[in-house]
Amino acid sequence: MIQTQDGWPQPYQLLDARPYWEGLAAGLLKYQRCGGCGQAVWPAHSFCPHCSSDKLAWEVSAGRGKLYSFSTVMRGPTPAFAAIAPYTVGFVEMDEGYFLFTQIEDPPEMLKIGSDVQARMIERGGQKLPVFTSA
Ligand SMILES: [Zn+2]
Repeated sequence: MIQTQDGWPQPYQLLDARPYWEGLAAGLLKYQRCGGCGQAVWPAHSFCPHCSSDKLAWEVSAGRGKLYSFSTVMRGPTPAFAAIAPYTVGFVEMDEGYFLFTQIEDPPEMLKIGSDVQARMIERGGQKLPVFTSA
């Protein structure tokens, strides 16, 4: 795992997902949509998991969705995460029709499954990342 000066481990950037990381660097949250069946596809694939088409195109998400599930981490797995613990992670059901695993910034006692959430970009170790807050 790559460690940066400020201690944040950096995410693995798989080849299929390169446009996702390039999008984040430009402040855009991107996902794939299948030109064959029209379904949103995430995580990034070379072929559509729904219909096997290779006509996957990148689109920009509006960054809005509903909180699908969440869990609060009391002890961080690395010093950088330990420094922000407790913190909450979870799945957001995006308005475009895919699920994104992400950090949720609101205190856990404020969170409700199904509530509206909105992305904002933060920077860790030089990498822009989306985190979500109540909309
Ligand atoms: Zn498809």
